[in-house]
Amino acid sequence: MSVLPLPPAIRRLGVSVLSTSPIAWGMWRLADEARSVAEAARLVHAALDAGITLLDTADIYGFDGTAGFGDAEALLGQVLHAEPGLRDRFVLATKGGILPPVPYDQSPAYLDAAIDASLRRLGVDCIDLWQIHRPDILAHPQEVARTLDAAFAAGKIRALGVSNFTMAQTAALNHFLDIDLATTQPEISPLRIDCLENGEMDQAMMLGLTPLAWSPLGGGRLADPQRPRDIAVAAALDAFAAPLGISRTVAAYSWLMAHPAGIIPIVGSQNPARIAEAASALTVQWTRTHWYAVLVAARGVALP
Ligand code: NAP
Repeated sequence: MSVLPLPPAIRRLGVSVLSTSPIAWGMWRLADEARSVAEAARLVHAALDAGITLLDTADIYGFDGTAGFGDAEALLGQVLHAEPGLRDRFVLATKGGILPPVPYDQSPAYLDAAIDASLRRLGVDCIDLWQIHRPDILAHPQEVARTLDAAFAAGKIRALGVSNFTMAQTAALNHFLDIDLATTQPEISPLRIDCLENGEMDQAMMLGLTPLAWSPLGGGRLADPQRPRDIAVAAALDAFAAPLGISRTVAAYSWLMAHPAGIIPIVGSQNPARIAEAASALTVQWTRTHWYAVLVAARGVALP
């Protein structure tokens, strides 16, 4: 049976100087609960102990609709302040550009201020990967590019990514940038296969962007599927996972990593045992037949 390659031990982020594990850990939910610095540190250590070296946050994480802007970054900043040696052990990714209730702002003045504010909250001199969280269609990509090139030249960011951009928006920004985009961060999971079929992954391969998959378990829906389609996708993952003695969630992460674009799933769990288990996905090898069975379940219709 035709098997797909395992992910490499280290993955380079696009054309940047950064290399990371092929699986990441995300902090969207870090500040959902009032976690102490020690609790947050335990999660960071869980990721690092599992060999995960790409940690993703955003300035908006922790915002509950009225307050808390920057809380997740600030908490990570406190973790780093308490244990400075951690900073060099991972690639630090964050995002900006969402500003409630505006809702999006990528004007030069705002971007400058947002990057500076993230640096301050995180207590670092430089952000490894800075990403535009969602596109501001009122910002000209040439102006955005000029601002971000300047942040790169000033040493504030080491690489640049986009998130939730259309293919045309990605191409336009990349066209105007001096530094090439390194990453793109769309929602991808066995429950969200749009960008496997709409050309986004093909564009990523063509431009040399590393895709980071947000909500790789559909925000947790894969762990507890309720709708008929979700149940069918879970069953297809289980059919592969059960004989190997692995969990459905590990199967889901490895399914994403089997894609030739080199997708990096961002594990969203804030549970140390689940974060540790996620890393075992690096040793799971898919067959083409099983992989397509999951795709077909997600499509809901047979392939031609
Ligand atoms: P996810 O992995 O799809 O979902 C994680 C959720 O599933 C957690 O609440 C987790 O709960 C739950 N879960 C239930 N059973 C689980 C199991 N067996 N194993 C693992 N998790 C289980 O990811 P996500 O949190 O939605 O998103 C992941 C990351 O993507 C975020 O942290 C963020 O970095 C990024 N993101 C980016 C955007 C964007 O617009 N760019 C949007 C959303 C997310 P427990 O914590 O209790 O395990």
